[in-house]
Amino acid sequence: MGIKLYNTMTRKKEEFIPLTEGTVKMYVCGPTVYNYFHIGNGRTFIVFDTIRKYFEYRGYDVKFVQNFTDIDDKLIKKAIEEDTTVEEVAKRYIEEYYKDADALLLKRATYNPKATEYVGKIIKFIKDLEAKGYAYSKDGDVYFRSKKFELYGKLSKQNLEDLEVGARIELDSRKEDAMDFVLWKAQKEGEPGWNSPWGCGRPGWHIECSVMASELLGETIDIHGGGADLSFPHHENEIAQSEARHGKSFANYWMHSAYLNINNQKMSKSLNNFFTAREILEKYDAEVLRLFMLSGHYRSPINFSLDLLESSKSGLERLYNSVRNLEHIERNGEDRDLSSEETKLYHEILKYKEKYINAMDDDFNTADAISYIYDMVRDINTNVSDNTSKKLAVMLLEIIRELGSVLGILQKVTEEEFSEEIKALVDERQKARKDKDFKRADEIRDELKAMGITLEDTPQGVKIVRIS
Ligand code: AMP
Ligand code: ZN
Repeated sequence: MGIKLYNTMTRKKEEFIPLTEGTVKMYVCGPTVYNYFHIGNGRTFIVFDTIRKYFEYRGYDVKFVQNFTDIDDKLIKKAIEEDTTVEEVAKRYIEEYYKDADALLLKRATYNPKATEYVGKIIKFIKDLEAKGYAYSKDGDVYFRSKKFELYGKLSKQNLEDLEVGARIELDSRKEDAMDFVLWKAQKEGEPGWNSPWGCGRPGWHIECSVMASELLGETIDIHGGGADLSFPHHENEIAQSEARHGKSFANYWMHSAYLNINNQKMSKSLNNFFTAREILEKYDAEVLRLFMLSGHYRSPINFSLDLLESSKSGLERLYNSVRNLEHIERNGEDRDLSSEETKLYHEILKYKEKYINAMDDDFNTADAISYIYDMVRDINTNVSDNTSKKLAVMLLEIIRELGSVLGILQKVTEEEFSEEIKALVDERQKARKDKDFKRADEIRDELKAMGITLEDTPQGVKIVRIS
């Protein structure tokens, strides 16, 4: 059996069948770059990064696109507040995004397109919609005629009447119908603009994703993802535009990750109840945050608290204790082939890998996958000892790191704890050097060398390294 995933479109778990064998074409809505991202955004990024890495782990070649919304009301507001340009704001926060994303161990996307790089293509797309009767212009704005797209509402499963009641609240006199949404906005004073057949203006938000997805991945893609808040109206509108223009299905699978909440309320910039990713990363290792985020299923909301983060920290520490122990055996254990008991143990441990794969194949159940890692490590701890062979330690470390790599945990090699005797010699050598007693310092260096130890000078001080 292959991978099954929950498709928001059908509200069912379905077997994943790619458009092209062995390839996944995946588009995930990215950040609006007017600020540092918060850990609510971070949850969505980590979830889709993990899904992408799992597909890769299962042998797929993944084309992963995540856009930057670099033109929008919030960027314009920020530029005015800071007396700078929208371009400058975007440039700054894209740089900052990469810093935080790298720190969170997010693998770089295959492409990170920016909306402003696609304005020509966006205009062409809108013109095609206009030619087909799906779009109309009014005073320099262009709107999409939602009701003309008969399947409007198919993703969010909302009936048109309910939608209309909601939409009427923000009825815009320039629209023919309350359900219509904007494709192109006429330029207002002080705003950036591009020339278009409808006058100077800028693209609406929804259209950029339709355009960038089809340009970079094709008119039909495998998976479209984003946070739960995007399914309506953003994804609904993306579907309407793309399918109206291309006359074919836009995405075969729709995936939405649930919210990260705080005090049972969605973490968001507008509610001002957020922690930025970098604030958290100042105090916690990225692996701790990833373990916390992935300890729940991606379709269940999680409530953020520092207490929960602390318990992920101690959980990860427990796992690393085992890694440290295995690394010790790797260096000091018996240099021989596996005994028959060790072979048996290894096969027992491999069963956890199978369970882990089954959990991840079943709609990326990271919560269960993590609990199997804990079970596996507990089993390893009770069965290895100082008499264990180096070879088995290496094999066990390999499984732990392999299963951790998809989740972005357990990737660090821990530092060797050196004996008190070695540490005392190192200190003595440092003192001798300070006192300019180079004869004694050299003697100690040779002594350490005979013990298989060398010293390296680093910006953080002297590092003890084992030679063999
Ligand atoms: P934004 O920069 O607000 O457009 O959001 C970027 C991504 O983060 C989108 O996929 C959002 O759905 C997602 N997102 C925003 N807030 C949260 C939250 N509290 N929990 C999970 N995902 C979120
Ligand atoms: Zn989008």
